[in-house]
Amino acid sequence: MSKIEFRQVSKRYSATAPLTINHADLVIEDGEFCVFVGPSGCGKSTLLRMVAGLEDISDGDLLIGGERVNDLAPARRGVAMVFQSYALYPHMTVRENMAFGLKVLGSNAAEIDKKVRAAADILQLTPLLDRLPKALSGGQRQRVAIGRAIVKEPRVFLFDEPLSNLDAALRVQTRLEIAKLHHDIGTASMIYVTHDQVEAMTLADKIVLLRSGAEVQSKGSIAQVGSPLTLYHRPASLFVAEFIGSPKMNILSAQLSAVSATISQAQVLGAHFHAAVDTQALQAGAAISVGVRPEDMRLAPGPGANVLSGQVAHIEKLGDASLLYVSVNATTPLLTLKVEGTTAQAVGSTVHMLCPPEALHIFDEHGDACRRTPELPA
Ligand code: ADP
Ligand code: MG
Repeated sequence: MSKIEFRQVSKRYSATAPLTINHADLVIEDGEFCVFVGPSGCGKSTLLRMVAGLEDISDGDLLIGGERVNDLAPARRGVAMVFQSYALYPHMTVRENMAFGLKVLGSNAAEIDKKVRAAADILQLTPLLDRLPKALSGGQRQRVAIGRAIVKEPRVFLFDEPLSNLDAALRVQTRLEIAKLHHDIGTASMIYVTHDQVEAMTLADKIVLLRSGAEVQSKGSIAQVGSPLTLYHRPASLFVAEFIGSPKMNILSAQLSAVSATISQAQVLGAHFHAAVDTQALQAGAAISVGVRPEDMRLAPGPGANVLSGQVAHIEKLGDASLLYVSVNATTPLLTLKVEGTTAQAVGSTVHMLCPPEALHIFDEHGDACRRTPELPA
């Protein structure tokens, strides 16, 4: 009932403009929590507004519950949207704000009251029902906006960066509430737009990472679709590898020295590397990029295979961990290495960094990933 299908959906804001969305193909299953992420301006809001019916679809088909909805009025789609700006009516109480949409639709008063009470209960708004928005915190206002969506009993919930206006602590709390809401309302599908990858990783059943810039025109809008851990462990391209994960994956220019289905070999900044990656599609001698996440590297006692050496240029002490920014030579960007928070390393000291074979990623000259050979952790 609430399955959403994008079939080759494209969007052009004007006849002469480039494609904002280029041939998006995507299925969001009944009850699935799908998160759209990507750089600012990549079209996340545009895609969401197309589902809501607030934006025309230039090409392709959009289906909800198996029905083509391209030309269906927004009010008839069974979707409810929550925006970054809460857009509450300032002169109405919480109760009236939540009831307003149902009143407009002509529902009877008893029915409205029942739905408002149920939503207030889910969102812990019951003690606040008679307050005006100005007497609420930002987090409470956003919960009212979510409540206004819940009472409509939509088959699809659309969230456009709903937590961006909240401070860090409230963001975490409201994020947990949204996860709980999804759990409690199991049948509705949710599409959630964010540029915050922690939100994406923690909320999503499925992440859709969108491209931006010139590549949208040549390669299409969607860079990769998959579970959070799939995108983290199996990025399909350099773009995905660098977007997902914080701090960012280190990317090193390298040369493939031996092709293999299981353990390939490469020269990386003068060091000999083994990588648990299938490079059969490439040729020995090919220029490649080797990727390794800061949290996958370890300090080693000295030089050797899979070890890079350099000088610590900066240290960031986060408490539970420290980030070492290491200069390996004059031309390579600083590498980031995540170590324990109690590290004794100091700026200027020489470090040797082990990049374990099973932690490496290899990308070809086009930025496409080779298949990693270890299995995904459960
Ligand atoms: P995101 O939400 O990912 O930041 P948007 O969907 O808001 O991105 O915008 C995608 C692109 O479409 C941007 O380049 C933006 O400038 C453009 N755009 C958005 N809305 C309009 C509009 N109404 N008219 C013309 N261009 C628009
Ligand atoms: Mg947006």
